[in-house]
Formats: sequence, C-alpha cells, structure tokens
Amino acid sequence: MTTQQTFSILKPDATRRNLTGAINQKFEENGLRIVAQKRIHMTREQAEGFYAVHKERPFFGELVDFMISEPVVVQVLEGENAVLKNREIMGATNPEEADAGTIRKEFALSIGENSVHGSDSDENAEIEIAYFFKPEELVG
Ligand code: GDP
Repeated sequence: MTTQQTFSILKPDATRRNLTGAINQKFEENGLRIVAQKRIHMTREQAEGFYAVHKERPFFGELVDFMISEPVVVQVLEGENAVLKNREIMGATNPEEADAGTIRKEFALSIGENSVHGSDSDENAEIEIAYFFKPEELVG
C-alpha cells in the first residue's frame, strides 16, 4: 500500500444541484484527503484538451458541451491507493451499473451526467493534476 494522489472533478450536474459537500463527504469518510480544490468554469479549449483521448468517440461533443455548461470543482485527492480507491467510491460510468453506496449510484443522472471524474491510472493522475494545478497548490 502506498500513498498516492488522484485527480477528481465534481461535474456540472453535481455543482448545479449543490452536491459538492455530499460528494466530498464520500471521499473523506472513505479515507481520501482533499489536498487541493478549486471551483472553475472550464473553457471549451480546456475541456477539449482534457478529454482529447475521447475525441473520436461519438459522445465527445456532448461531453465537452456538458463539462462547460456550468462550473466544476477540480480536486486532488490523496490516500492509500488513491486512484483505485476513488474509482471504487465513484462506481461504474453508467449509474445503472454502479454498486450501491457509490457516488454515481446515489447521485448521477445518466451515463453522461455522472457527477464525478476520477483518474484511471497513476500515469493519467499525474498528467491530469498538472493540467489544472501548480505543484504549490497541493497542500497535504
Ligand atoms: P469514466 O472513466 O468512468 O469517467 O468513463 P470514460 O472514460 O469511459 O468516459 C468519460 C466520460 O465520458 C464519462 O464519465 C461520461 O461523462 C462520458 N461518457 C461515457 N460514455 C458516454 C456515453 O455513452 N454517452 C455520453 N453522453 N457520455 C458518455
């Protein structure tokens, strides 16, 4: 077990419904510490760059439009096996397939408006954290 950091986004469907506290509580009660956090309204360029890996997918346009529709909260979460642990706390991409007690099961509206993003590997966590945060903004 090693302490890791992962990148997280509270998506527009969550900020719109005032769910940032309820979702942060899930992270904290499962042992993840929020070591950086800011509320931003992503530009189209930022969202397209962040999701560039998905640009050939049929839902890319819809995903970018959604991510810039309202503010989001970008975060760095820290804890033991943070990447994997956060994926467990989030639940499956499609809320209909998510396990009971997960964020997406409890809060997500649909496969697109699914409340949270979380890095899927250590390598991507590092890239995604650097996309939104300067090193000095992380306070452990
Ligand atoms: P994640 O790692 O669980 O977030 O899932 P993916 O990396 O596969 O997809 C990234 C994001 O694209 C998801 O969290 C959804 O917001 C969105 N997405 C994935 N599949 C679909 C889809 O079929 N339709 C729409 N509208 N959005 C999707």
